[in-house]
Amino acid sequence: MPNDPQKTGLFSIASAIARQRQGEVRTYLNDAYRGRYLLGKRATMDSPGLAIIVQIDPALLIEGEELPAWAHVRLSLDGDTVLDHQATGSGAAGSILTQPYFSKIVDSQSQPFMVDVTRRLSVADIVNRPWIGGFALASLLVLLLLLFTRQLKANARKLQQDAREAERRAHLQEHETRLAHALRVNALGELASGIAHELTQPLTALLSQSQAALRLVSTDSPDPALLPKALSANVREAKRAGAMLKRMRDYISKREQKPVLADLNQIVADIAELVRADLEKRQIGLVLDLATPSPQAIVDPIEMEQVLHNLIRNAADALQEADTADRSIRIETVMPESGAIVRVTDTGPGIGAEALPRLFEPFFTTKIDGMGLGLALCASLVERIGGHIDVRNHPTGGATFTIALPPVEQHLKAAQ
Ligand code: ADP
Repeated sequence: MPNDPQKTGLFSIASAIARQRQGEVRTYLNDAYRGRYLLGKRATMDSPGLAIIVQIDPALLIEGEELPAWAHVRLSLDGDTVLDHQATGSGAAGSILTQPYFSKIVDSQSQPFMVDVTRRLSVADIVNRPWIGGFALASLLVLLLLLFTRQLKANARKLQQDAREAERRAHLQEHETRLAHALRVNALGELASGIAHELTQPLTALLSQSQAALRLVSTDSPDPALLPKALSANVREAKRAGAMLKRMRDYISKREQKPVLADLNQIVADIAELVRADLEKRQIGLVLDLATPSPQAIVDPIEMEQVLHNLIRNAADALQEADTADRSIRIETVMPESGAIVRVTDTGPGIGAEALPRLFEPFFTTKIDGMGLGLALCASLVERIGGHIDVRNHPTGGATFTIALPPVEQHLKAAQ
C-alpha cells in the first residue's frame, strides 16, 4: 500500500532512526499519528534498516483521577502539541484575573516534552460567596451614606448661599434707600424756591383776609355774615399751606420702604403739586392725562413720587436746551388689561442713538453737573416692586419713559 500515510510516515521515521546511535531512543511526531507520539530505536548496528518503534497515546498515560478538573494541561515537543487537555471544573470558562501558570521541560533525553499547566480563576475561587454578599452589602451602605452626606453638605451649602444672597440684597436695598433719600433731599433743595413761591399765595391770602376781618370788627356796625366768610377763607388757605409743607416733609422723610396698595392718579397729582411752581418758573407746561378709574398698584408712594420726579426733572432739563415752541411734559396713567402704566413724555430733543442703550447705567450722564444716578435708581426702585421701566423716542420728537407695574393680585401672590 504505497499511499498508506502511516506507512509513508514510518518510512521517514525509520530513515531517521537509522542515523541514531547504538542504544539511543528518540521521540518522533508524525502527522499520520496525530495525538500520539512514537519512540524509535535501532534494532542492531548490523542491520541499519531494522528499527523498533513504539506508538504511545499520552492521554492514556495520565489516570483520569490524577488529572485535576481545574487544570488545562498541554504537552508539546518542539512546539508541536501532542496532548491538549482542557479544564472542565469551575473557572474553565475563564476570568478577568491573571491565570496561575506552570511550564517545564520533562527531564528525559528520549522524551523531552514541554508540560504547560494553566489554571483559570474566577472571583468566586478567591473569595467565598457569603463574604462577597457581605462585602457588596457593606459597600452599598457606605455608598448610600456617602451620597446622603453629600446631599446634606449640598443642602447646607445652598442654605448658606441663600442666606448670603439675602444678606447681600438687604445691604443693597439699605444702600439704595439711603441713596434715594439723599437724592430726594438734594432734589427738594432745587425745588425750594418754587415751593417758597407757592407758599406765598396762601400766606398772602391769609394776610389779606385777616386784615379785612380786623377792619370789619373795628367798624361800628360790622356785618355778621362777613366775618365767618373771612375766617373760612383763612382756614382753607392755612390748610393749603399746611398740605404743601406736609408733602415736602413726607417727601424728604427718612423711613423704611413700605409698598402699599396705592392710587397712581393720587401719586401723580401729589408730585405735580411739588414741581408745578418750578416748571412754571422755567416756562414748561405740565399736562396730566389720568385714567378713570384710577389705576392701582402695590408701591411705596414716596418712592414712586421720586421715580416720577426724576423723570420730570430730566424732561425739564432736556426742554431747557430745546429750541421748540411747545415746551411741555405730559404724564399719563393707563390701565391696560393687567397691571398699570405711568408714562412721562416730553417735547424735547429726544435721546441720541449712542446714549439710548446706556441710559440706565449708573454714572452715565451727558450733563456737566449730572451724577448719572437718577435713572439707575428709578430702574432699581421700579424693579424692586416687580415692575420695569423703558424709554423710547417719540415719533413726533421728545422722549417717552414708560413705567409698567405688575397687577395687584400678582404682587399679593408673590408676597404669600
Ligand atoms: P443725570 O440727570 O444726573 O444725568 P440720569 O440718570 O437721571 O442722570 O440721566 C442720565 C442721562 O439720560 C442724562 O444725562 C441725559 O443725557 C439722559 N436723559 C434722561 N432723560 C432724558 C430726556 N427726557 N430727554 C433726553 N435725555 C434724557
